[in-house]
Amino acid sequence: MTADTYDVVNPATELVVASVPVAGPPEADAAVERAAAAYASWRAVAPRDRARLLRRAADAVDGSREELAQLETRNTGKPIRDSRAEMEMVAETFAYYAGAPERLLGDTIPVTGGVDVTFREPLGVVALIVPWNFPLTIAAWKLAPALAAGNTVVLKPAELTPLTALRFQELAQEAGIPPGVVNVLPGRGSVVGRRLVEHPKVAKVAFTGSTEVGREIMAAAAGTIKRVTLELGGKSANVVFADADLASAAASAPYAVFGNAGQDCCARSRILVERSAYDEFLALLEPAVHGVRVGDPRDEATEMGPLISAGQRDTVASYVPAAAPVVIRGSVPEGKGYWYPPTVLAPADRSDRAVREEIFGPVAVVLPFDSEDDAVRLANDSIYGLSGSIWTRDGARALRMARAIESGNLSVNSHRSVRVVTPFGGFKQSGVGRELGPHALDAYTEVKNVFLSTEG
Ligand code: NDP
Repeated sequence: MTADTYDVVNPATELVVASVPVAGPPEADAAVERAAAAYASWRAVAPRDRARLLRRAADAVDGSREELAQLETRNTGKPIRDSRAEMEMVAETFAYYAGAPERLLGDTIPVTGGVDVTFREPLGVVALIVPWNFPLTIAAWKLAPALAAGNTVVLKPAELTPLTALRFQELAQEAGIPPGVVNVLPGRGSVVGRRLVEHPKVAKVAFTGSTEVGREIMAAAAGTIKRVTLELGGKSANVVFADADLASAAASAPYAVFGNAGQDCCARSRILVERSAYDEFLALLEPAVHGVRVGDPRDEATEMGPLISAGQRDTVASYVPAAAPVVIRGSVPEGKGYWYPPTVLAPADRSDRAVREEIFGPVAVVLPFDSEDDAVRLANDSIYGLSGSIWTRDGARALRMARAIESGNLSVNSHRSVRVVTPFGGFKQSGVGRELGPHALDAYTEVKNVFLSTEG
């Protein structure tokens, strides 16, 4: 480490894996200027050619999938099988949005005395600020639609996890995306991130991270009336009715919250179980939790790795004091690494801190409920509204619940709800705007309306 660089650490070994140049305000300003200079020519690239470049970026990621996956695992400690799946999604995201440049269609609206036509236009320079939990995946959700729509970008990865973003910048250039269109800027959020948010030449900020920082960004962006999209925290409910396939619900529940060591904004970390099935469900959940394979992230069989940092482990541990009502506790490897065991708490009080706050670690709470109304009340009793699951064999109930729960992404009899082709985003303090699917393009375009007179 020197004054101009900082060390990036492997959370599974606590060893330094790379030394990375650290950017400050002058580098942030220079990156914005590069992106601003590249904007006019990038937005003028014919849609067919922009599509071709995005397809080439998808192919470049696809061709380097294993290298990127290994890099992501070394930097985050996530299991290699997860990193491989994530790199597949990154390539798929670029391939999907390669279809967008030629499909950014407008409307034709007949009006008195003529016709109005609308255009979907890019915004300009967009700042992308992303977290450490899914470093390249979340960056790709923003990069691909932003570039497809004709914007240029400055991407600020999390300080802890810049490696795959830096590699992506090289791959994008190899794919033929012109210099200046994609600018990756590792550096401290409170310095470089803040500078980007306040910069007058940045038209929009797309952010994923904590609700607290999201709130700060929204306030700071007000100074220049920037467009802002925010993907923030969650405390999602996994609602299990007595009529559900309890074995399937219990087998899925650990993966719904301990995936990525619980560092997932979609984690279904509140397991709500109908009281009449509560004991039976807990009995099924216990072996399922012990079945989660925690260990060396490089091992193909590993399902859960360490937390991202010692600080994150301390934060998680603070939710499980000595007197905590632990009902299930898994185990972790001995020795180096920021490990925390899969843990299930059964708080007696619905207002317990572990029930209300996003823990962002492998800690779930399990609570009984008494009726469908009670389940809805409990599920919605949160400042968040990002994801959630409903387990029942009653189709009408599943639909009633899905309509009643205030959340952006729900799944029925499953814990999966993130796909490249479908919208993703939060209700309430889980965020503003939608990523993925066709909806993401709204976040990176302005609608321009033009009236054409037929009268003279
Ligand atoms: P943050 O929200 O602090 O960080 C997310 C990104 O924002 C990082 O790139 C960070 O940079 C940057 N950032 C931080 N402060 C500012 C700022 N003032 N202006 C602009 N950008 C900024 O998340 P943390 O990584 O600190 O995690 C803290 C908690 O946030 C977690 O415990 C979890 O509860 C929640 N979280 C939620 C996520 C989600 O997907 N919903 C993702 C990550 C975290 P830098 O890395 O340099 O700090």
